[in-house]
Amino acid sequence: MALTPMMQQYLEIKRQAPDAILFFRLGDFYEMFFEDAKLASRELEITLTGREAGEPERIPMCGVPFHAAENYISKLIEKGYKVAICEQVEDAKATKGLVRREIIRVVTPGTVIEGSMLQEKDNNYLVAVSELKPNQYGMAVTDLSTGLFQAAEMAGPWALDSLLDEIARLSPRECILPEALRQQGKVADTLRSLPSTILTILPEEYFALESASQVLQEHFSSTDISACLANAALSTAAGSLLQYLLETQKRQLTHITEITTYSPKAFMILDTIARRNLEISKSLRDGEKKGSLLWVLDVTKTAMGGRLLKSWLEQPLIDPAKIEERLDAVEELVNSLLLRQEVSESLKHIYDLERLTARAAYGTANGRDLLALLSSLQKLPIIDQTLQNARSSLLQRMRGEFDTLEDIQQLLISALAENPPVSLRDGGLLKEGFHPEVDQLRTAARDGKAWLAGLEAREKERTGIKSLKVGFNKVFGYYLEVTRSNLNLVPEYYQRRQTLANAERFITPELKEYESLILGAEDRLVELEYNLFVEVRNQVAAEVSRIRRTASLVAQVDAIVSLAEVAARQGYSRPQICHDGIIDIKEGRHPVVELTLGPGGFVPNDTYLDHQTERLGLITGPNMGGKSTYQRQVALLVLMAQVGSFVPATFANIGIVDRIFARVGASDDLTSGQSTFMVEMFETKQILDHATPKSLVIIDELGRGTSNLEGMAIAQAVIEFLHNQLGCRTLFSTHYHELAELEGILPGLTNYATAVKEKGNDVAFLRKVVRSKASKSYGVHCAKLAGLPGKILQRASELVSQLEHHQQATREVVAGKGQVAVAAEEQLAIFSEKHSDELIEEILALNISNMTPLEGLTYL
Ligand code: ADP
Repeated sequence: MALTPMMQQYLEIKRQAPDAILFFRLGDFYEMFFEDAKLASRELEITLTGREAGEPERIPMCGVPFHAAENYISKLIEKGYKVAICEQVEDAKATKGLVRREIIRVVTPGTVIEGSMLQEKDNNYLVAVSELKPNQYGMAVTDLSTGLFQAAEMAGPWALDSLLDEIARLSPRECILPEALRQQGKVADTLRSLPSTILTILPEEYFALESASQVLQEHFSSTDISACLANAALSTAAGSLLQYLLETQKRQLTHITEITTYSPKAFMILDTIARRNLEISKSLRDGEKKGSLLWVLDVTKTAMGGRLLKSWLEQPLIDPAKIEERLDAVEELVNSLLLRQEVSESLKHIYDLERLTARAAYGTANGRDLLALLSSLQKLPIIDQTLQNARSSLLQRMRGEFDTLEDIQQLLISALAENPPVSLRDGGLLKEGFHPEVDQLRTAARDGKAWLAGLEAREKERTGIKSLKVGFNKVFGYYLEVTRSNLNLVPEYYQRRQTLANAERFITPELKEYESLILGAEDRLVELEYNLFVEVRNQVAAEVSRIRRTASLVAQVDAIVSLAEVAARQGYSRPQICHDGIIDIKEGRHPVVELTLGPGGFVPNDTYLDHQTERLGLITGPNMGGKSTYQRQVALLVLMAQVGSFVPATFANIGIVDRIFARVGASDDLTSGQSTFMVEMFETKQILDHATPKSLVIIDELGRGTSNLEGMAIAQAVIEFLHNQLGCRTLFSTHYHELAELEGILPGLTNYATAVKEKGNDVAFLRKVVRSKASKSYGVHCAKLAGLPGKILQRASELVSQLEHHQQATREVVAGKGQVAVAAEEQLAIFSEKHSDELIEEILALNISNMTPLEGLTYL
């Protein structure tokens, strides 16, 4: 048996979108068939049914009503699927046989523009990557919902790392790449570590230079994109991205107005590990914004400002002039409460200009969207006014570029009704006076209705029928209804239309005349309003570049005000930026911990690092002493300073850093199946490979994943390498207190410890970082805090004193600095013997003070 013609049509269309779930429009429903139906019914929890399709067995089918489709589509997109929307593209009534159907858009996770599927303050990135040759890559990124389109080239020995860091930074919803790239181990690892990124693998032809350049030239015919075209890596990435957008969206993307090219080298480099560990925009614990640096600094009022601030934090600057310029602007607003309040107040009323404009350009904006656009534009003059009074160079420059878009405002004021409906097909979109014909039709409809309203009373009067009613239904239109008992009173000019059980319905020629006036006017009105609205929307869309430029200025103002607001509220101070590599912080605080602890709860600490005698701070101290908080605090303050933000400290002088490394704790990377130790070593290798003298390195514990002996040895070797070879500024915390012996041997190493106060049996962690080395670990104390049973604590304390006694003995035997690791090795060797208890006793019994070092060694 052959398939029915409609199923043949379905299969043909399905072939055009093999990797998407096909929503096939059938009347008021979108239907899915075959495997799509099985998948969608499972994912959407809707009933799977069957349909006769000409085959012996019914085929699987499920469907969703078209008016509720957005909801279902958004669920599928959320789960990482693509949805191809196939519409009837000709009027079913006017066609004999099968209606023509076409895919009108493929919605993919990276091409969503609907507000309901997006997070306000997050970009929805779609990235494309091309490989020109090994060590030369192009990357292009777009956010279709805002019109952002950027491209970058990565070249040189570490090009792949740089590319992967960029991808991780953007954490795109979707990533387009050729198969060959996906197969590279490092690429696969990075993509695996981004669970919400879906992959779209496209054939090599997509990335061919010639076709890519052509697509770009056609789309950007009136924009200068020569910088992009001059570079093959940029062109292939940008071209393949654009091609994909055009093919899936199947429309002109007029809101993508320019390509911004950038170099990752123009920003501080932060790899995935550092981003994660410093909790810049997400907390380590649950991946939420709460608990991150962004959570503290983001009091932006607009979605655009929120997105921009996030990208600022993720891309700190390295050009001192740019940093100072931002700092100047922030300072100006810190110092003027009035200015800040005025701007904040207007920003509160500005909607997402970027996304609204994108929807206008896309042709999906409705009356309420344009109204939101209008009320946003109306706030622009106040921001403009504020900028007029600004003195800092950045704000002044912005004033020069600021366009209050008055023409668009005027257009919208004159056109839009005060309270337009959601639908574009119900009329009521336009304002009185905007278009004469609309007004005429409205008057006609209104007059008709008024006449109709009086009709019932007039006819009752005229005929004497008390129960006479005027009614309306779709089939007969307006009618006069008379109950059976009054039929004898019906005048001659009434024409019978319908007979009911106990009433009859009539029309009169006059009634029909008014009816066609009313209905005709309403139909015509809806049509006319729709067309005029679309015209207005197109006029707005034609100004998309101007609106986007202003939107970007608004976003900048918002982000600067946010930094200033937090700085003023939290008592931050302006950092100095220097070139001599010094990092000098007085009374620094961790911005996030400070906020969680509340006023007065945080103990401030100083920091001093340079390129000379203080390039490596070695921090020892008990668990829970505050080591890790301290290290991250230093990294965050440097990062904030380079973002152009004030910092939580009474004084800060920050020597610009090209890159921050942050290796923290040991966590199992379960997804990649690597052990704790391998993760540690991999992360350490990253640092040793990439750190330069301008980098800042934070290592919080190293060598935990292996035996004490080896762990300490590795830690020491790494410290020596960082200190001797790389010369980067480093804070290294360790629970191997023995490593403190390195002070004096390594001239650039300084010991720090977190201070502890003992009072009888009680111990208080002061959270003060002092120049010293830790004397004890207080592990038993921590165990007590954690609530371990008393018996265990007591036994542990006994063991500690025994072991300490022994350790002392060994130290004295193996004298000589730099031998720390050797000493430890020997201790451990002893304890690993079967009869360690006996040995301990034996060693404790020795009279060390009477032995020469040589005797000691021989004994051991
Ligand atoms: P460590 O790394 O030494 O184990 P952490 O840095 O994890 O210690 O800090 C332990 C606890 O102490 C954290 O809960 C933190 O909130 C608190 N803490 C750390 N530093 C400070 C500080 N400077 N002031 C107040 N509380 C602090």
